[in-house]
Amino acid sequence: MEEAPLQFIDTWNFWARVAAGVFIGVAILRVLFHVLKLVTTKDYKVRYDFINEKEISTLWSATVMLLIGASLLANAFLEEIGLFWFIIRWFTTLCVAFILGVVANNMYKFYYPFYIEKRLRQLRYKPRISPKTGKPMKLLSEEEEDVYLDEGMQAEEDVFSVDYDVWVDEETGYTKIEKYSGHLHALKCPECNYQTLRIVKEEIVTKPTYEEEGELIKYFHCSYCEYGAQETFKVAKLKGSPAEMATAS
Ligand SMILES: [Zn+2]
Repeated sequence: MEEAPLQFIDTWNFWARVAAGVFIGVAILRVLFHVLKLVTTKDYKVRYDFINEKEISTLWSATVMLLIGASLLANAFLEEIGLFWFIIRWFTTLCVAFILGVVANNMYKFYYPFYIEKRLRQLRYKPRISPKTGKPMKLLSEEEEDVYLDEGMQAEEDVFSVDYDVWVDEETGYTKIEKYSGHLHALKCPECNYQTLRIVKEEIVTKPTYEEEGELIKYFHCSYCEYGAQETFKVAKLKGSPAEMATAS
């Protein structure tokens, strides 16, 4: 069967190359912009949040644009071709792009978090530099830090998946308090061992009183293997019982 070659093929080639250039260009710019932002962000905590919130979605959207650009480019140098082969070519290209996309998506979802986790841990515990003295500050332990956290922060730390890190400049007493949210942070799943276990819900079953500890249930869910778990935690008694207050005054 002899097919008549497509009439519009030259116009097609031209615009496909233009569009491919735009997609590939935007993909590269997106990654470049991310890297630039990372190297120019001096504050470790700001960099931590930026990586945690943006890195995977940036890489994923850049990958999608790159795949679209590459698909266009693979079909932008066509010579005499009939409609039938044009469609076949596109179908094949899209199948390949789709498979590559699925592979990349899995990499970002399940392997990349290990790498991110390693970098985040380094950033979180890298000694902060005091703006007063230019010297490294000291990270306080859980027990030491309570003095520096107000009641609201302490309660939050007790109840919700929130961690406060307190850095102190011992010479001048300057402090820097950083908040880390457990909801944004993936844990290692005990079932599949991927870094994909997150807290999805927290529920206080018994409110703490001045006399008694409360109880809290945290619900975990793994986005890889769908493993779910719940764990019960004690909530610290409310501080400064009315009785104590009375005797103190
Ligand atoms: Zn799992």
